[in-house]
Amino acid sequence: MTYKDLAELIFPSITKTPEDYENIYPERSLSEGAKVVRFAPSPTGFMHIGNMMSAVINYVLARGSKGIFYVRNEDTDQARTVEGALDFIHHTLKYYDIYPDEYEYNDKQAGNYGPYVQSERMEIYHAFVKHLISIGKAYPCFLTPEELTEIREYQTKSKKRIGIYGKYAKCRDITPEEAIKRIKAGEKFVIRFKSEGDFNKKFVFEDLVQGKIEFPENDLDVPIMKSGDLLPTYHFAHLVDDHLMRTTHVVRGQEWMSSVPLHYELFHAFGYKMPKYIHTSLILKKDEETGAIRKISKRKDPEALMFFYEEKGYPILAVIDAVMTIANSNYEEWRTNHPDTPFYEFPFSPKKMSPSGALFDLDKLDNISKNFISKMKAEDLYHDYLTWAKKYDEHIYDVISKYKDETIAFLNIERETKKPRKDYENYLAIFPKSWYMYDEEWDRELEYEFGKITDKEEIVIVMEEYLNNVYDSNDMQDEWFNKIKVLAEKLGYAGDMKEYRESPDNYKGNVADFTTIMRVVLTTKAMTPNLYDIMNILGKDKMFKRLEILKEKY
Ligand code: GLU
Repeated sequence: MTYKDLAELIFPSITKTPEDYENIYPERSLSEGAKVVRFAPSPTGFMHIGNMMSAVINYVLARGSKGIFYVRNEDTDQARTVEGALDFIHHTLKYYDIYPDEYEYNDKQAGNYGPYVQSERMEIYHAFVKHLISIGKAYPCFLTPEELTEIREYQTKSKKRIGIYGKYAKCRDITPEEAIKRIKAGEKFVIRFKSEGDFNKKFVFEDLVQGKIEFPENDLDVPIMKSGDLLPTYHFAHLVDDHLMRTTHVVRGQEWMSSVPLHYELFHAFGYKMPKYIHTSLILKKDEETGAIRKISKRKDPEALMFFYEEKGYPILAVIDAVMTIANSNYEEWRTNHPDTPFYEFPFSPKKMSPSGALFDLDKLDNISKNFISKMKAEDLYHDYLTWAKKYDEHIYDVISKYKDETIAFLNIERETKKPRKDYENYLAIFPKSWYMYDEEWDRELEYEFGKITDKEEIVIVMEEYLNNVYDSNDMQDEWFNKIKVLAEKLGYAGDMKEYRESPDNYKGNVADFTTIMRVVLTTKAMTPNLYDIMNILGKDKMFKRLEILKEKY
């Protein structure tokens, strides 16, 4: 009996060979230099910032080279599948407008290299496993869980390397006859790769981020197909899928780097060319409590998961810019010089990725985002704000829908100027800085931020004088301010700052103190966008209403 008989016994219904699949999934005909990249998350957790970085890099590499970006659902660890994780991945890619060219999701599929879901590729994996068994490069291993534990415990105790290699690979040399007998007797087995590596020899490969890396050769007989569900392990699926889907560049987390010697052996066993590897840096952050730099944590850091950015309403392009900024050290400079160029035209270079880790900082994102929002047109900002509110805050949605024009007018204050205001880092930050524009919001507890002048009687006099005798909605800003100055002087405030500085005791305050009174009555805040614009949006009636509220509540 031969290895072929053994392979036949294990996979009686598999008729196709790896060569057949070569023909089914031929080399892609793309232009020179086109990159074929994939985002291959496992639905075992919700999309996080590390996934996002991989996805964005993939997208940029594909767009920048007129290549292909596809998504593969790596669902072989079915026990750890988290409900909703896959939906969230697709939702997030759509939300950020970085949707792949090829994918399979629900009843939709695009691309000729599918299925793009690993659990649907069983037959393909089995053809490849069958081939390896038939040439004696893979074998059924009958070690029981208890035996494996025993080996591991022994290796730990005697400080040996952990794993199935050398003398621990007890089933490696079992003859096909014996294997066939044991399988027929119903013994359970996994399929292991028969490594030919030597741990004492060096294996060198070039990672596009890390440069040349040296590892010992792989000599572990790793499982390539599990017993039970007969699904492949990650390593084997990587070989089969990335070969057949014709991936040119694998972008994946650094934790996979030490597996490259094994992956090399697997590709080598079939005579396939390996893809190039971009092992992305770890995403780091400064710990709020200790100040130490550490890995970002899905458990501890809300910003590690992509929900965070959407719930707070960061503009999608600001998030992408923040991610690109940590992905490539020259992105920020490029962005400054190309403020209006789409991010995917950036010439991403793995060499410009920090091998030691990428420091992600929310303040940085806030800055990027404030800048971004400050340059949006008020109508566009309103639209995105409304869309966000519709999903995340019904109350805000109701209010800003009702007061559409006022909201746009408010958002437009000091916008479209050379130095626009940078008030908002996200849509969530808008309402706390604008609620005072809406009548219905004034039933809340109020905290008036008066400055120098706090006397209620004085405040009421100033406001009544102003509203009854001075305010005119037709005034241009200069006229508006001149009239305020005249009134200020009439009521005992210095209209001229120099005069005030020379003899402050002669006045109740200066014209700035005077406008603060009005600002705080109308908004409760000491700092707001331009008061002239706020007054014009509110109009006289609403300003009177604010005064009535002050009389009652202050
Ligand atoms: N499914 C693997 C993971 O989520 C993907 C690694 C890869 O991209 O090859 O970690």
